[in-house]
Amino acid sequence: MIKILIVFLAILSIGSLWIYFNTPDSSTNLTINNIVNSDTTKHKGKGMNEKIVKSDEEWKKELSPEEYKILREKGTERAFTGKYWDHHEIGLYICAACGSELFESDTKFDSGCGWPSYFEPIDSSRIIYKEDKSYGMVRTEVMCAKCDGHLGHVFDDGPPPTGLRYCINSGSLKFVPKEK
Ligand code: FE
Repeated sequence: MIKILIVFLAILSIGSLWIYFNTPDSSTNLTINNIVNSDTTKHKGKGMNEKIVKSDEEWKKELSPEEYKILREKGTERAFTGKYWDHHEIGLYICAACGSELFESDTKFDSGCGWPSYFEPIDSSRIIYKEDKSYGMVRTEVMCAKCDGHLGHVFDDGPPPTGLRYCINSGSLKFVPKEK
């Protein structure tokens, strides 16, 4: 009888520990929930692109050292040093690694933060959001859904209509001007 009681108590304590460690922290999920709720993109997750999977060696051959550092090693270019933070031409911003169309120039705004900033992506299905707890902060990382390349982070201090600021490294983007 005592054995059964001990086993029962052990299961109970393991169970409560499991629940404790698996309960998501509500404050850290706030940003991601806001993004999902304020999704105003035209496509809303339709037509998910096919994944591109390459080895580190392959990416190293295809990307410049700066692009590799940002896209594959989650690096960050220094503020006000990238090629697009102060860029105002009309066109598309595509992933520098896989060419997926990510942002349009008419969603770009001057945030003053030193990185190109957009209030929304072209298509919500082309972006992956991931909680990032590095450097003692809780941020939402933004990645390319097609190649898993690191792009930057998204914050909820952007302008209307979404209130979001996609803060993206220039080094993870390539600009394609709109044909006249
Ligand atoms: Fe990509």
